[in-house]
Amino acid sequence: MNQKGLTPGEVLSLLDNAGLKNTPYEKVLSAMCTKPHPIALKAHMQFIESNLGDSGLFTGTKELEEKVINIMGDLMGDSQACGYITTGGTESNIQAIRTARNLAKKKHPNIVVPVSAHFSFDKIADLLGIEIRKAGLDNQFRVDTDSVENLIDDNTIALVGIAGSTEFGQIDPIDRLARIALSNDLFLHIDAAFGGFVIPFLDKKYDFDFSIKGVSSITIDPHKMGLSTIPAGGLLFKEESYLFPLEIDTPYLTIRKQRSLAGTRSGAAVAAAYAVMMHLGREGYKRIVDRCIKMTDTIVDGVRECGVQPLIDPVMNIIALDVPDLDEVRKKLRAKGWFTSITRDPSAMRLVIMPHLSEEILELFISDITSEISTLS
Ligand SMILES: *Cc1c(COP(=O)(O)O)cnc(C)c1O
Repeated sequence: MNQKGLTPGEVLSLLDNAGLKNTPYEKVLSAMCTKPHPIALKAHMQFIESNLGDSGLFTGTKELEEKVINIMGDLMGDSQACGYITTGGTESNIQAIRTARNLAKKKHPNIVVPVSAHFSFDKIADLLGIEIRKAGLDNQFRVDTDSVENLIDDNTIALVGIAGSTEFGQIDPIDRLARIALSNDLFLHIDAAFGGFVIPFLDKKYDFDFSIKGVSSITIDPHKMGLSTIPAGGLLFKEESYLFPLEIDTPYLTIRKQRSLAGTRSGAAVAAAYAVMMHLGREGYKRIVDRCIKMTDTIVDGVRECGVQPLIDPVMNIIALDVPDLDEVRKKLRAKGWFTSITRDPSAMRLVIMPHLSEEILELFISDITSEISTLS
């Protein structure tokens, strides 16, 4: 650290230099985050000082958190759901499985997740000392429920279903998973980190949330398709008692107990989530999702003209494309400024069509990928 401080102007110019190295979202087709809604930014700044780790001092912010949880619970099929705003999908998944582990009290616990599960479950295995068993997928990249059943044993404490898988945007058969969970008396966690703010607004209806009996908890992230500021994740439980195994005594705070994994945590992100949800309402989110789906169709139709097929018809605004010479094509696209991503198995080009994109920019992408593919030797 410098002995003498810099002037604000000097510091701001250091920040500007760093900011210039960041990628603007314009040509990013690989990210699940996007530009937050302007009202989220405003709310974030207004509540920048508040710390929900010591919520007795910030009762107004705490009320906003309860309202956000009610709004998201209602969206997920149960307005009575309980929970809190986390730092993201990873914390939500950790906490849900921690609850399941603490309730089950097994010596060598395991959970069964689809092989398509987010890598946060590998962190969970390490952190919580739980064996993660990975179930296979069907030909549409949904979890194969026979594979799930075969992996369950006396030490299984929970099943996980994904509603909006990170790589394929696919929705697991949650109703069948719920029946398996109920008949084996298992906790069922649904990871809708991405899909939670997409699936309720699709024209096609999917059952994936608390409306299905047997669903115990849901991860749903405001900082992805919720258009809120980072860090905002959501963790919802069907029953308040599921929060009790997470409670820790906090003798020197204004509150008696804390249930979050983070100690000090952002009230700003909570205010931002509240603001954007109140402002957009279901109609606003539906407009945004409709637009992303329309752009998704534009890409799929465009690349089909040069012979490239999606691995599955996209369910939401995530596309996996079977591109020849994948590494080469991605490298060429990267040189033209495009950020694309990949799926692991099978290996394909993965595109996430977020609200920061536009039809115009996607026409440009289609033209670039078409010319790269047609010049492959
Ligand atoms: C993004 C994602 C996560 C992780 O969320 P973070 O906010 O990055 O911690 C977990 N599950 C799924 C399905 C995701 O898409």
